[in-house]
Amino acid sequence: MIELVCASANGDKVAEMAEVLKGRAVLLARPAGMGEVVEDADTLTGNALLKARAVCDFAGAAALADDTGLEVDALGGAPGVWSARYAGAGASYADNVDKLLSEMRDVAWEQRTARFRSVVALGFPDGTSLTAEGVVEGTITTEPRGSGGFGYDPVFAPVEAGGLTFAELGAGAKNAISHRARALRALLELLRT
Ligand code: IMP
Repeated sequence: MIELVCASANGDKVAEMAEVLKGRAVLLARPAGMGEVVEDADTLTGNALLKARAVCDFAGAAALADDTGLEVDALGGAPGVWSARYAGAGASYADNVDKLLSEMRDVAWEQRTARFRSVVALGFPDGTSLTAEGVVEGTITTEPRGSGGFGYDPVFAPVEAGGLTFAELGAGAKNAISHRARALRALLELLRT
């Protein structure tokens, strides 16, 4: 079983990653005392690599990072790589969801297609890195539904979930089909080969 330092300090993400990696890898906490990594790349892969490399270099051990974007077709792929700051710097989950629903106010159901895309990156102390991507297709609902998950989960209904949002699915059901779980499984497969 490999040990990976987790580059994310977001408890919601860390819990999902730990569950998917259970039995395959142990996630170690992000080093206390390490400052924020400035995520100034303009792609998910660029930001995931920035975080994985910075934490790997600080900890001197293999580090795992994730960067995720919600791509909404009716908004030309926005918020995408800017998903965390969609409603402005320091925006809360609720602020971002409110802005998304407001931008989508006049968009018909058939045009509300979207996808979550996650890129996970592994940085190794020898300077090498690996990345893998996971995608889940779905629809932006017209109002928030459900109390599970985090972020945009209450307004994202994955195609595989029969109309339920990620926030209405349990954690196990989200992990079975989510963008992040798919990216992590692809990364484990890369490591295995
Ligand atoms: P980041 O990867 O931490 O930059 O996340 C980008 C934005 O997408 C943040 O606002 C997160 O809350 C949101 N987000 C990331 N992963 C998920 C997810 O699995 N479900 C819902 N929202 C997410």
